[in-house]
Amino acid sequence: MFYFILGIIFASFTACLSERLIYNQSLSGRSQCSTCQHPLQWYELIPLLSFIYQRGRCRQCLTRIPAYLFVCELIGGLLAVHINQPLGLLIAFLLLGLSLQDFLTQTITPIFAWIVVTILLPLQLLQQPDFIKLAGALLLLAIGFILVKQNLLGSGDIPIILILWLFFPLFWFSWALVIGATIGIVSILIRKRHQLAFVPCLSIGYWVVAVIFN
Ligand SMILES: [Zn+2]
Repeated sequence: MFYFILGIIFASFTACLSERLIYNQSLSGRSQCSTCQHPLQWYELIPLLSFIYQRGRCRQCLTRIPAYLFVCELIGGLLAVHINQPLGLLIAFLLLGLSLQDFLTQTITPIFAWIVVTILLPLQLLQQPDFIKLAGALLLLAIGFILVKQNLLGSGDIPIILILWLFFPLFWFSWALVIGATIGIVSILIRKRHQLAFVPCLSIGYWVVAVIFN
């Protein structure tokens, strides 16, 4: 229960930060309703619960609070319960924030993903000097950029795929990718839209595998 509560609080913070970054809003300042701008009181900021007892609406103007915030917090709680490796959990939350950004705007703030890549790369190579890992990363980078040029992949997807590659052994990396791609293909077929937010799909692949791999 303790980890779940910590998870939803951290997810709420992650969601708020991700939204502000992608919409170029100030990172300081109190949270407010995006419709009527009324500043939120502390009890309106309690993750999950505030959404439930306000029945998913702003207390002032009754505008619907987006359900994705509730989903985001719930996922965060579950991740904190089921992943207990610190780095794995950190990446899980990073992907939560980036997924939300991609879901909302089809773009992400890629700098955070690239920072994780640059941390993971030496970490992996120091742990076991595995040059297949390094060569694989360079190959994925090259393939990624070709696919981006062809408009088959978003540039923000590249660091995410690299994170999966560097964090998991080959077997689990393949599983994460298969799960992500399957969800992506199914959602294209269902929604009949070619524009797809692929980061949430890859993130689900990561979360599922990270929980099993844990
Ligand atoms: Zn409002």
